[in-house]
Parts: sequence; structure tokens; C-alpha cells
Amino acid sequence: MKILVVNCGSSTLKYKLFEMEGERVLAWGMADRIGSAGSRIYHRVPGREEIVLDDPLPGHGEAAERILGLLTDAGRGVLGAAAEISAVGHRVVHGGEFFQQPVLVDDGVILTLEECSDLAPLHNPPNLTGIRVCRRLMPHAAQVAVFDTAFHQTMPEYACLYPIPYRYYKDFRVRKYGFHGTSHKYVSARAAEIAGSGSGDLKIITCHLGNGSSLCAVRGGRSVDTTMGFTPLAGLMMGTRCGDIDPSIIPYLAEKEGLTAGRVVEVLNKDSGALGISGISSDFRDLFRAAGEGNKRARLAIDMFVYRVAAGIGSLVPAIGGLDMLVFTAGIGENSPEIRREVCAYLTWLGVLLDDDRNSVRGAEAEISAPGSAVKVLVIPTDEEKMIARETALLLK
Ligand code: AMP
Repeated sequence: MKILVVNCGSSTLKYKLFEMEGERVLAWGMADRIGSAGSRIYHRVPGREEIVLDDPLPGHGEAAERILGLLTDAGRGVLGAAAEISAVGHRVVHGGEFFQQPVLVDDGVILTLEECSDLAPLHNPPNLTGIRVCRRLMPHAAQVAVFDTAFHQTMPEYACLYPIPYRYYKDFRVRKYGFHGTSHKYVSARAAEIAGSGSGDLKIITCHLGNGSSLCAVRGGRSVDTTMGFTPLAGLMMGTRCGDIDPSIIPYLAEKEGLTAGRVVEVLNKDSGALGISGISSDFRDLFRAAGEGNKRARLAIDMFVYRVAAGIGSLVPAIGGLDMLVFTAGIGENSPEIRREVCAYLTWLGVLLDDDRNSVRGAEAEISAPGSAVKVLVIPTDEEKMIARETALLLK
């Protein structure tokens, strides 16, 4: 069975085609700058050179048509016809409280997704565009929506409600939703697989540390708490996002700077986090380089990030009543031995003991804890596309 995974942003369309037998990737790529000058498609097939198409792409529909053209091209394609694609798995950021599981898309689901759009106005509308385009171009294929929020729908009420007037939850659905669910689910399931038999009640904290960062407390395979909230702005400090701050700062800054509350929130999303503190970059490779050259604010940004990750891990331990496994994933989690070492140095009281040699790993699966460590510490590269393909295949069964 062949499954195409699609992730639509406002000006991008990322895709990966899987042969589910053996979970082989047949092709992958991305359309970039859709709707503006300089639009491009980068297309890859394993073992072959990258193809770059410099065609104008006025909309997602044209991008998807070109991509299907590349996939089915007589000379360089990997499919005889688009009809070989059994299903399309769509990444959808927000499923509100409606979706705890992936869902087969029909007209009713589209209406519900439209209702969720005011919860994620930047993300859900392009996700919906992707669904509409693929329904039109591949009417034979099942369309499945897989939600970033779904894995966290198992959080108990006491963990996911905010202590504000209850009617804001009832009337406006203001609560913690959590994001990166597909990634947390994938790496926690893989950690349980590594733990082997008797993993039924495992207590795991997964650390998705990338441009966006979040932690998730997982017990017995279910998310019981996570650090992101009503939106992906909450929780940990991130590349450009502030994470948790005192909400009174927003009207205070609005008044001081003569900004609207909306504009302050934009600053908190785009100009804050590691970039805001360092004044240099949101990329931790740049921050380590600058800190090595003596830049104090770059070092401060790293120290703040590490402290907040460690404090976040500590705050999640009660949710699962202990800690058996700690998993690092995503850009920073997979590739930065320094961040992992510094975070774990805060956690010795929990019985976390790293092995420095093992911790030198980058971008590969490995156990990095020392033999005597009470908590098994793992690096597990995340694969959200593979997880979406798996969830899509599972639903079709
Ligand atoms: P992601 O959002 O998961 O793609 O992660 C991207 C981020 O990972 C980048 O912005 C970097 O901050 C970080 N990253 C990638 N490689 C490294 C590395 N070798 N050391 C530190 N940070 C890294």
C-alpha cells in the first residue's frame, strides 16, 4: 500500500511518499514560496540527484499537480499513476476537542475542521487547503487527517484546564491542548518498544527540542500532561517564542510601546526566546559558536533554555509518579550533546546519570545513560511523517 503524507503551511507543501510494506520512503520533497515570486519544488528520490523545479506556483493546487507530475513522470517518476496512492495522510495542527484519533475525511469532518480554525488561525486553514486540493486531485484515495493535538486529548481535566473563570472553557474552549503530539507519540512508543516486555505502565518524559519545543509526560502510552498550551506559544523557551511568561506583561508592554495586544503577542512569537535574549540567532549552533567566542548573551540564552527544560521535566514527574525513561528528540534533542548534558546535570536528584561517550551521538538512536542510571536516557530521532503514514494505514485497516 502506498501512502502520501502531506503537510501544508501557508506558503509550503511538504510531502513524503511511503510504500508501507517495510515502511520504505519512495520520494519526498517540498514546494516552497507558493503564491509568491521565486516559488520552487525540491523533489528527492533515494539514491538519485535532487530535482529542483523553478515553476510559478500560484496556489497549493498547482503545487500538488506538479508534485503528482513528478511522482508519476514516465522517466524519473516512482509511480505508474497517481491511482497507485491508496491514501493521503494530512498533518492537521488543531483538532480541538473533537478528535482524539486520526479521522477519515468527509464533508462533515471538513465542517468540524473549519470550526477548529479559529483555535489555530495560522495553521489549520492551510492544512484544510491541502485536504481540499488532494481530494480534488486524488478522488480515488482515502484522505486521513492526523492531528498534532490528538495524542494529548487523554490529559485529565485538572491538568488541561486553566484556573480562569470556567465559562471561558465552556463558551470559548480555552484550555491546554498541547502540540507536537505525533512526535511525542512516535518517540514514546519507540521507547516502550526498546524497553521490551512489561512496558505497559512505563513512565516516560519525551523532550521534543527543536525550533519549537515541548515536553510530554507519558504513562502507559498515554499523554497525561504537556508543556504547550492553548497555543504553541506556551511552555518552554524556544527559538523565537517566549514560552511561559506572566500574562500581565502583555498589557504592560502594549502600553509602554504603544502596541496592540496582538502585536505584543507577535513579538512573543517571533522576536523572543533564544533570539530575543541573545540578539543573534534562534539557532543553537550559532549560539554555541558565539558563546564559545565569549558572547555573554548567547551563553545566557543557552542557560535559560537548559534551565527551563530541566525545570519543566521536574514539574512533570508528579504527573506520572516517577520517571523510568527520558527521551530527547528533534533538531536540538537529537543533535546537541551539550544541551542534553546540561539538562541532565540538573536531574541527578532523579537518578539521571549520563554516559559522556554515549552522549556524543548525533542524529541516531542511542541509549546515552550510564549503566547505573536509575532513569534510562535515550536519543530517538523523531519521524512525524512515518507516524502519520502509520496512523493512516492503521485507520484504513
Ligand atoms: P527542528 O525544528 O526539529 O528542525 O530543529 C531545528 C533546530 O535544531 C535548529 O534551529 C537548531 O537550533 C537545532 N540544531 C540542529 N542541529 C544542531 C546541533 N548540532 N547543535 C545544536 N542545535 C542544533
